[in-house]
Amino acid sequence: MTTIFKKIIERDISAEILYEDDDIICIHDKFPQAPIHILIITKKIIPNIQELKVEDMHLLPKIFAKAQELASQFGVQDGYRILTNNGPSAGQTVLHLHFHLLGGKVLGGKGG
Ligand code: 5GP
Repeated sequence: MTTIFKKIIERDISAEILYEDDDIICIHDKFPQAPIHILIITKKIIPNIQELKVEDMHLLPKIFAKAQELASQFGVQDGYRILTNNGPSAGQTVLHLHFHLLGGKVLGGKGG
């Protein structure tokens, strides 16, 4: 099984890569919903947060620490949102765990 994000990780398709290590990759979203719209993606293909197993939960603090860093780097540390969509009915379109970091404007309602 592959995903569009796996293809980015493997450099089969291009993306603006902001950060990468053995566990995560951070890219600009191709279709930004805010002036700052970064995706923090696990390298391992985990479909979504509901499928995250205990053995992979160590990735979460790493993801949130990187979100803090990126928020500061992009100057939105005083106002940003981190979200992950779980399942198509929640708006998930890529079944590969990722967190959206959104900022740079006044963000609207939470429910969509
Ligand atoms: P989801 O809808 O699953 O929560 O989020 C998937 C995100 O991936 C969307 O915000 C979408 O714009 C972004 N996306 C989809 N395809 C690509 C791509 O090829 N490159 C990049 N950089 N982002 C993508």
